[in-house]
Amino acid sequence: MKFKSITGTKDLLPAESHRWQYVEQIFRELAHRYNFKEIRTPVFEHTELFARGIGELTDIVSKEMYRFEDRSGNSLTLKPEMTAAVVRAYLQHNLGQQQPVTKLYYLAPMFRQERPQKGRLRQFHQFGLEIIGTPGAEADAEIIVMTADYYVQLGITNVELRINSVGCEKCRPQYKEKLKEFLQPNLPHLSEDSQRRFETNPLRILDSKDDRDRELTADAPLQKDHLCTECNEHFTHLQEILDEANIEYSVDGKIVRGLDYYTKTAFEFISSALGSQDALSGGGRYDLLAKEIGGKDVPAVGVAGGIERLLLVLEASGTETGEEPHPVVYLAAADNDSRAWLYGITRQLRKHNIPCDTDLMQRSLKAQMREASRQHAQYVIIAGSDERKNNEVVVKNMEVGDQQNVSVDDLVHILQQQLSGEHNATEKSRA
Ligand code: AMP
Repeated sequence: MKFKSITGTKDLLPAESHRWQYVEQIFRELAHRYNFKEIRTPVFEHTELFARGIGELTDIVSKEMYRFEDRSGNSLTLKPEMTAAVVRAYLQHNLGQQQPVTKLYYLAPMFRQERPQKGRLRQFHQFGLEIIGTPGAEADAEIIVMTADYYVQLGITNVELRINSVGCEKCRPQYKEKLKEFLQPNLPHLSEDSQRRFETNPLRILDSKDDRDRELTADAPLQKDHLCTECNEHFTHLQEILDEANIEYSVDGKIVRGLDYYTKTAFEFISSALGSQDALSGGGRYDLLAKEIGGKDVPAVGVAGGIERLLLVLEASGTETGEEPHPVVYLAAADNDSRAWLYGITRQLRKHNIPCDTDLMQRSLKAQMREASRQHAQYVIIAGSDERKNNEVVVKNMEVGDQQNVSVDDLVHILQQQLSGEHNATEKSRA
């Protein structure tokens, strides 16, 4: 074939899409229960939104962005992350004016030109939460607790929460110097990436995946031990709330996150089922971002998690992820003259919320029955000229195998009764 999908992107085929719908639906329902409202922003933004000042130095901005020029010469970028876009929209539309604290959620595709591997794609999808407008550790906790709840609801158990504080503009500069002093003697032995980060973003050296880097930074000073009073109190308060909420976590001074706008809280949810790309989700507080984008000082905190990785974990643990939808009823015509009449009945069933399908290929009755089985229909409705004359159909229960003649006038009612009977029986056997 001449055309194939682009490396690092994936088609979501029908056999899989119900699993996505399942995890998305649980996320939406939970977000609504926590009173988050949905935000959708365009897939592309002005490049400068992501490549601002110090942001230029992160890997995502310097190496991985899908940047292009449109015909007017504007530099545009497919969004590599959502937070900057959400804050841009928040400022542009003055969302803070309507309420002091804005709680937003999203489900959206992101684009990064990374080296594709298991759990790492070039177009991937994230769920995310942002709370904008409050500096309180309560908001950090709300984000973390809902994310933890989400994994519990999905039945993911092998997940670990690690939290840290990366300080603020008051305490981080001194700490950075301390860290650089510590790293300096071993600088030539650090990996190439870490050497490059030494001047620009030395904190990132702490979460390097390189074995030698890890060895050399084993005893490095950590920001969490060098916090100013404000950051320290914030971090302690966050832990108090998490304890009260019965959320398990460990403090890990080496969680620093890839993006550089984080202040105070940084955290990751990690799964042992994921191999080297083990971060299920991550987030933190970003009190400096709104100002960097050109707005006012607005404190905020958020999380973003990969949907593909979530599904990998669910698959690895064999956890149920919803059912592939199938028609409850299949309508089969015994002769060609009855097709149009039968099609009228599909309209009735669909109007009454009964999922059904029918033959669109003028196939024989035998072929239609085969199709009904293939589609796992619970009932097949059969009609030919005799039934049509009497304004009735044959309803065949595919599980039991029995069949009965039913007047078209009673059909919806009878199907609804049978289906609600089955529904109640399933509920009972579950209880
Ligand atoms: P980040 O925005 O880099 O903190 O990523 C947040 C989450 O998004 C990660 O924990 C992953 O679950 C997911 N993620 C990030 N990059 C990728 C990628 N290239 N492919 C798939 N998932 C990703």
